[in-house]
Amino acid sequence: MEVPSDLQSQSPELLDARDALRNFRDEFYLPTNGAVGASKDLPADQPCTYLCGNSLGLLSKQSESLVQGELKVWGSRGVVGHFNHPYGREWVEFGEKLSPLLAPIVGAHSSEVISMSTLTANLHLMMNAFYHPTAERFKILCEARAFPSDRYAFHSQAIAHGLDPKTAVIAMSPREGEYALREEDILDVIAKEGPSIAVVCFSGVQYYTGQLFNMQKITHAGKHAGCIVGWDLAHAVGNVPISLHDWGVDWAVWCTYKYLNSGAGGIGGLFVHSKWDHIKKPDYAGWWGQELSTRFQMPEDFTPIPGAWGYQQSNPSCLTLASLLGSLEIFQSAGGIQATRSKSILLTGYLEGLLRDSSFCEKADGPKFVIITPSDPYRRGAQLSLLFSPLGVMQKVLDGLKNAGVIGDEREPDVIRLSPVPLYNTFADVKHAVDVLEEVMRAL
Ligand SMILES: *Cc1c(COP(=O)(O)O)cnc(C)c1O
Repeated sequence: MEVPSDLQSQSPELLDARDALRNFRDEFYLPTNGAVGASKDLPADQPCTYLCGNSLGLLSKQSESLVQGELKVWGSRGVVGHFNHPYGREWVEFGEKLSPLLAPIVGAHSSEVISMSTLTANLHLMMNAFYHPTAERFKILCEARAFPSDRYAFHSQAIAHGLDPKTAVIAMSPREGEYALREEDILDVIAKEGPSIAVVCFSGVQYYTGQLFNMQKITHAGKHAGCIVGWDLAHAVGNVPISLHDWGVDWAVWCTYKYLNSGAGGIGGLFVHSKWDHIKKPDYAGWWGQELSTRFQMPEDFTPIPGAWGYQQSNPSCLTLASLLGSLEIFQSAGGIQATRSKSILLTGYLEGLLRDSSFCEKADGPKFVIITPSDPYRRGAQLSLLFSPLGVMQKVLDGLKNAGVIGDEREPDVIRLSPVPLYNTFADVKHAVDVLEEVMRAL
C-alpha cells in the first residue's frame, strides 16, 4: 500500500466520497462542540472534530444497544442470565464468546486470546507467569519512555524478585537528538545481552511517539536469544494488523478502550501462545479459568481450560464485554483490521502531508512544530505526535484547537497527539484540523 505523493493536494470531499468505510461514521456517537467545551460561536449541537481515538475511542450505537440489552437481561432475569439468556450471550461463557472475533484482530487462534481484567493487572499476571529470573538470566528489556504504568510494573517486578531495578531493568532510550528507538539498536542489545535477558517487553505502538515497532523482527531476535518475548499492545490493537501466533510471541496484553472503542476502563485482553499449552499451567488460578463444564460445580481441584482461557481469574463484567462485543462486530462488518488499516494509512498520510506543507512545520522561526512520529507508514499507526516549541506554545495551541472544536490530547510538556481513526474520522476532519491548527498558530 502506497501513499500517493500528492495526496495532500486532493480534495477531502473527493477522498471521502471514494472511501469504502465512509458509512461507518454513522455507527458512532460523535461528541458535539457544545459538549467538549468549544467556543460558543460554533454550533453547539454539531459534531466536534475528534482526533483522540488513541486515548479514548468513541461509543458505537452497536455497543450502546448491546450494553442496554445486558441491563435488560439483568433487570428481567437476574442470576438466571448466567445460563439462560434471551440473546444467546449466557454470562457463564460470555468472555469466551468474544474470542473468535478478537482473534483475527491480533492474529491468534481463539483459544489463545481472552477478554479479561485490565491491562496493567494482566501485565503483572503475565510477568508473574513468565518472569522467573535466575542468577544468569534475570533482566527485563524495555523502553525507558514506556507508558508509566509499564515502567512501574517492570520496576516493581524486579523488586518483588529481590533484584535491584537499576541492574535488572534495561530501559532503552532513543539516540541523542532522535525520538524513535532504532530497531537495529534494540536488536543489538538483544544480541549482546541476550543470555542475561529473561523478558523482552516493548509496546507494539509507542504511546508518546506513535512509533510502530517491527514486532516480528524483535520477537524473532528475542526468541533466538532464549528470552521470553511479551508485547504491550495498548496502542496497537485495533490500530495495526498483528500476527501474534505466527510471529511466535509468548504472551501479549492490551486494553480495549483506545482503538477498540469499548469505553473508559473497558475490559482488557490477554494472549498466550499455544506452544505453552503443554508446557505450563496457569500459575495464579481463579474459578473463571476452570473448565467450562464444571465451572459452576466448583470442584475441589483446579482443572484449567487449555490455552489463554485458563488464565482467567474472575467473573468478567457483562457490561464491559457487551460494549467490546459491539465494537468487534463493527470491525468485522468493516472487513477486519486489514480494511481499517488500509484507510488508516491514507488518512494519516493525508494528515502528515498537510502538516508538512504548513509553514509552521520544522522550518519556521518562532512558534513551530516537528512531527516526531516516523514518516514511514509501516513504522507508525494512526497517530502523529507533534512536538511544539518554544516551550509554552503547546498549551496555547491545544486550547486554541479545543476552542475551535478540534480534540487531540497533550503529553506534557510539549507534545500534542492527533489520531484520525479510520472507522469514524473523515478526510474532511483531517483537513479541518490542520486548517484550524494553522489559524491558531498564526494568531499566537
Ligand atoms: C493506555 C496504556 C496503559 C493503561 O493501563 P490500564 O491498566 O488499562 O489503566 C498501560 N500501558 C500502555 C502502554 C498504555 O498505552
